[in-house]
Amino acid sequence: MQTVGVIGAGQMGAGIAQVSAAAGYRVILSDVDQARAEAGKAGIAKRLARDVEKGKVDADARDALLGRIEPVGDVAAMAPCALVIEAATEREAIKRQIFAEVGKVLGEDAVLASNTSSIPITRLAQAAPDPARFIGVHFFNPVPVMGLIEIIRGLATSDETVATIETYARQLGKQVVRANDAPGFIVNRVLMPMLNEACFALGEGVATIPDIDLACQLGLNHPMGPLTLADFIGLDTCLEITRVLFEGTGDPKFRPAPLLIKYVEAGWYGRKSGRGFYDYSGETPVPTR
Ligand code: NAD
Repeated sequence: MQTVGVIGAGQMGAGIAQVSAAAGYRVILSDVDQARAEAGKAGIAKRLARDVEKGKVDADARDALLGRIEPVGDVAAMAPCALVIEAATEREAIKRQIFAEVGKVLGEDAVLASNTSSIPITRLAQAAPDPARFIGVHFFNPVPVMGLIEIIRGLATSDETVATIETYARQLGKQVVRANDAPGFIVNRVLMPMLNEACFALGEGVATIPDIDLACQLGLNHPMGPLTLADFIGLDTCLEITRVLFEGTGDPKFRPAPLLIKYVEAGWYGRKSGRGFYDYSGETPVPTR
């Protein structure tokens, strides 16, 4: 059985750890410290408990899956991993620091992949131990539910590295699309301008939060409105991606909405922080404006 390392045990890292373990991989899951890594695993256990209650997963399979995930406090434990996926906070400096640290222990054939939503893979590869064994592997949220992975090849990424990731993605039962290394790749290049525009519309008083969401949900036949989706993704993540699109293209059409910036400055990151465009402290989300 191969071992996959996952760095960052937040929404995405925990999801990646869960689907990797479900596919039979042994997983080493790290975060800034042991407690955060343990919290990531506890979140997986909580979600799986609901799946067991609903009869979607049987209890033995759940126990076996959880038994394959080992939370650790340090990337030094990633030495046995054939594949390491970084899913830490969307800040280039944080990711570069992680690559430097994991580079000290990564095996000679091991592949390092980043789940970045938007930072150019070719640029990130410069901080990786070997740019030929570095690649973008972009999962979608929630990872156990969403069937897509975007694979992004940097200029130096080798064919073997692409093959390793495609095999891994297939093992997870995900569909793969290949994107070139352009800001936002495919999905975020198209999605983020819409979420950002919904923030402009709200900030300019075009409509209320529920009306913007309902209009897009029913008018565009989307499963949820853009402000609900932005809260779900995390407003900090949405802002970081929008900034990358803006800076990466130099095109003013991607400038972040002032209201989105304000919410992030207030620490209102959406569902994960308990408040964004909606307040999540009660049974059902309540619009905040
Ligand atoms: P999150 O805030 O839920 O989790 C980020 C985790 O990284 C946190 O647990 C944090 O403690 C940890 N972290 C920060 N610095 C670290 C370090 N030095 N070492 C180890 N761990 C560290 O964010 P998320 O939504 O899980 O996003 C993670 C990555 O996935 C980002 O690159 C994001 O762009 C990408 N992504 C997010 C989504 C989404 O919908 N949220 C979708 C696809 C990709």
